[in-house]
Amino acid sequence: MAQRTAAVSADERAVVSRDCVATPGACRTHTRVVVRRSHNSYSSIVDWRHLTTPGRDASDGKRPQMTLYLTVDDAPSATLDEKLDALAARDVPALLFCEGRRLDRHPEHATRAVRAGVHLGNHTWSHPHASDLSEAAFVRETERTERRIERVYDRAGVTRPAKLFRFPYGDDGGDRAGDFRRVLRERGFTGPDRIDRGPTRADWSWTLDVADWETDDVSELRARFEAAVSDAERSDEVVLFHDAGNSPALFEAFVGWLDDADRGLADPLDLLP
Ligand SMILES: [Zn+2]
Repeated sequence: MAQRTAAVSADERAVVSRDCVATPGACRTHTRVVVRRSHNSYSSIVDWRHLTTPGRDASDGKRPQMTLYLTVDDAPSATLDEKLDALAARDVPALLFCEGRRLDRHPEHATRAVRAGVHLGNHTWSHPHASDLSEAAFVRETERTERRIERVYDRAGVTRPAKLFRFPYGDDGGDRAGDFRRVLRERGFTGPDRIDRGPTRADWSWTLDVADWETDDVSELRARFEAAVSDAERSDEVVLFHDAGNSPALFEAFVGWLDDADRGLADPLDLLP
């Protein structure tokens, strides 16, 4: 007789466990549930069942389906070409935040990205801490990079959808943050809507971070990713990952986890107002 799964009630739901066989030690997205084996009796057999959100079944309506938006900083690297292959193979949308100095070194990779619908944001010229910059230096870092980005779009023959900016290290300038955001707004930069910072936001932060620059270990990174996704509470999560510093193999693995995470994936540009 084929098994039939009952709807998961609160009584039937066991405590969320970290003992998932798929990702030992980290995963909290699997919940122990009772499996109904016939229409009138419950067996004592339990099963590991992947639910849409941790500890809740998909039908309770209390938490919406989460959507992940992949943003990739410190682009383009020498290996971006292979990383674009990984994105295309899984049809995973992404947004690249580019350093101007890297666009000088690998313009062809940036051109290919834009032609493939992977758009570019500004991540300054030389990746400084903004709190070390004067306003004039911040303008130079930003505008010099803008000229390189415009050149890529011109060469690709693609219309640039919006001017986007992310502060390196998430350092928004400290005491000068207001001035730097005014600089960005005056130049037409646009931040994501419905994330966290209100309608005057002109830059892009992130909400889901696996600190990929700290490790090259695939198992460690996988554990961090599973923990971050299961702890996430927003319906829209802006994921931070990096191009420079990560191998194509690690990048491809990460893209695969995103694709397999049983979450929605969407283009970060969908977050524009
Ligand atoms: Zn960066």
